[in-house]
Amino acid sequence: MIVLNLKEIFERETRFEGRYSLSPQDIKFPPDIGEIKEPVEVYVEITRDDRGYNVHLDIKGKVELECSRCLEVFEKDLSQTKNKHIERYPVEETIHLSPEDLDVSFMEEPDLISLEDLVREELILEIPMKPLCRPDCPGIDSPHLLFGDLEDRREDPRFAILKNLLRDPEVKDGST
Ligand SMILES: [Zn+2]
Repeated sequence: MIVLNLKEIFERETRFEGRYSLSPQDIKFPPDIGEIKEPVEVYVEITRDDRGYNVHLDIKGKVELECSRCLEVFEKDLSQTKNKHIERYPVEETIHLSPEDLDVSFMEEPDLISLEDLVREELILEIPMKPLCRPDCPGIDSPHLLFGDLEDRREDPRFAILKNLLRDPEVKDGST
C-alpha cells in the first residue's frame, strides 16, 4: 500500500510529484462493480495551502463491466484527470458546502494519504449506475439477439448489398 506522509514530505518540499503503477490487487476494486485486470498508471502532484492539500491526479486505466442490458462483459476506459482539495474534517458540526467545495475530500487524517484509496474513489465515480456496452444496446430481450442467426442476417440490407456486389460480374471483373 502506498501511503503518502504529506506532513513529512512538506517539511522538506513545497511540491510533491510521483508516478505509480497500481496493480489490480493494490486497487481492490469492488467486485460487484467491475473488474480491473491491468495495472492503473497514476501521476500525482500535490501542493499545500493553508486549508489542506491540492491534489492533481492523472489516471490511466480501464475496467471490465457487465452491460446492464445484454449482460455482455465490456471494457470501459477510466482514464481521467482530476483536481481535488483534501482537508481535515471541520470542527463545526455543519459543513457549508459552496460550489467550489464539490471536489473537496474531507479526511480524518489528511496528512496521511493512501494513494490506492484516492484512486479507487475516482475510478468508482466514473462507473455509470447502469453500464451499457454501447448506448443503443438492444438488450437480452431483443429478438435479434435471441434469434440472431444467419436467417436474420439475410434480411439485413447491408448484407444484401454486399451479396449483390459479390455477384455483380462488373464489380468482379472491375480490376481487369
Ligand atoms: Zn449490452
